[in-house]
Amino acid sequence: AKQRGKAGFVRYVEGMGEPVLAHMQLGGELRRALDDGELRVVYQPIMRLADHRMIGVEALVRWHHPARGVISPAEFIPAAERTGLIVPLGRFVLRETCRQAAAWLAEFGPDALPEAGLNVSARQLHDPDFVSDVTAALADSGLPCERLVLEVTESAVLRGQQVSRTLYELDRMGIRLALDDFGTGESSLSLLRAFPAAIVKLDKSFVDGIEIDDGQPAAADARQAVARAVMQLARALGLDTVAEGVESAEQAAVLLELGYTLGQGYHLARPMTADGVSQLLARQQSV
Ligand code: C2E
Ligand code: CA
Ligand code: CA
Ligand code: CA
Repeated sequence: AKQRGKAGFVRYVEGMGEPVLAHMQLGGELRRALDDGELRVVYQPIMRLADHRMIGVEALVRWHHPARGVISPAEFIPAAERTGLIVPLGRFVLRETCRQAAAWLAEFGPDALPEAGLNVSARQLHDPDFVSDVTAALADSGLPCERLVLEVTESAVLRGQQVSRTLYELDRMGIRLALDDFGTGESSLSLLRAFPAAIVKLDKSFVDGIEIDDGQPAAADARQAVARAVMQLARALGLDTVAEGVESAEQAAVLLELGYTLGQGYHLARPMTADGVSQLLARQQSV
């Protein structure tokens, strides 16, 4: 059931990934992988669409399996969430990202890379120790709280009072919260009132095809309607925006026209090692 994907990932045939992985007693394997240092963090730049200057990164976890090669998080995060391993895994990504972001800050100065983001699962938000984990990661690394972005999805947030209290507490600490995959859930709009978001990340599905001319006048272009509406909403509420999954210059141009200034995607930069980000920062500093 295995085939090698384009990026060299070992991919499991669609629809078969979960049963196959469950079969391998993924929980136990992941626990060992975490202990043995097989989990690594890569960073995807978030860039200004106008001039491709990197203003932030998103941390993304990878599993370097000794036999199966690099496994994508889409294959093991769901199982980590089910087994609860997401809590120690997430703590590892949090500590690693804060440490790395603080190192970039020390090496390249305060203007080089304003922020570092990472993904937080529902299960982590339910963990009573989450806020103290974040506080400790910031204190131990020396990263100022306003440089940390925590990305949460709608389904993670729509889970009651405890999560809401946690999010308000993080907001009060000065940490910025981003609504990930915005627009894909069922109640994105009501969520914006109930949750102290600073950033919305326009989901890739609304960027796909945005550059295709559907023959309508610009204001009526159905392919652009959601991206346009999200921009209006973000402006009205004073939120920053990031467009996800920007794969071409044509898409970047349309997004710029619609008012988006920041993007993330293969057209701008792929996820890369910390060293890759350092090289980009060095290059940016020399121009
Ligand atoms: P996400 O948070 O929406 O992250 C963006 C995903 O889109 C990443 O996939 C990234 O590599 C991919 N991507 C970026 N630009 C493009 C593009 O132009 N085209 C396409 N086709 N894809 C693009 P990745 O790294 O495989 O991560 C998948 C998901 O796994 C993430 O989606 C996130 O939900 C989850 N994930 C990754 N790392 C972590 C983590 O440390 N903790 C948690 N809880 N979840 C994580
Ligand atoms: Ca994300
Ligand atoms: Ca996303
Ligand atoms: Ca579209």
